[in-house]
Amino acid sequence: MSVFSSPAIVLRHADYGDYDLIVTLFTQSEGKLTVIAKAAKKSTRRFSGVLELFSFIDVVCRRGKGMPVLQEANLVNAHPGIRTDFKKTAYAGYWTDVVHAWSEEGHAQPVLFRLLEFVLEGLDRREMPEEVLSLIFQVRFLKLAGMQPNLTHCSGCRTALEDMPGSNAAFELAKGALVCDKCKSTLTPASILSKGLLKQLQWMADADLDAVRRLRWTPAARQEAGQFLETFVPLHLGKPLRSLKVLKQLR
Ligand SMILES: [Zn+2]
Repeated sequence: MSVFSSPAIVLRHADYGDYDLIVTLFTQSEGKLTVIAKAAKKSTRRFSGVLELFSFIDVVCRRGKGMPVLQEANLVNAHPGIRTDFKKTAYAGYWTDVVHAWSEEGHAQPVLFRLLEFVLEGLDRREMPEEVLSLIFQVRFLKLAGMQPNLTHCSGCRTALEDMPGSNAAFELAKGALVCDKCKSTLTPASILSKGLLKQLQWMADADLDAVRRLRWTPAARQEAGQFLETFVPLHLGKPLRSLKVLKQLR
């Protein structure tokens, strides 16, 4: 038996029997973790209002033979600005779904934890448009997950983006890479993206979050990047995301 504590974000929860809740947390120290919150439904005192989706909490868990048991949960930030707004809820649902789909139980991902915290806080405080926060989340998630698209050179002949003629370049979604006109296949579907946007996305993956926060977007660039990333992320996760469908319907 071991007891550990960690900051955590609530990703999901489901009823378990008449009294208990199964809660999936994204913890800072242990990564994704599914825990049982005993008597959470029965007792109004114990975890009252703490285990809501997207809440930032401090948890104490006990690990034994079966599923870890949630012993204590203290609310740090309920993110009320998210839950009172359908569109914000849909964005938060998409990001937490991506984290849930990609993460393995018990593997710490502190940088991804910080990223999810950053976008949820930004969403709650209305610091930036939801669409921009979602671009930041997706671009940086792809890098952290080792799924970063190649946006710098042709995957066939290695010609650099700036040496390709014209103001746009083709990106083959399945390959996750840029292709020049010569190497482009007529059979593989490709997205056509402006070179300026491709450079911006590349920069966003690596730059300091504070600098990324200050970046200004035109509505057209925001939309172009959003469409591209919302196609690329589920394709490379290899899983359909119901939350993304909900988000698209809502928009
Ligand atoms: Zn080429």
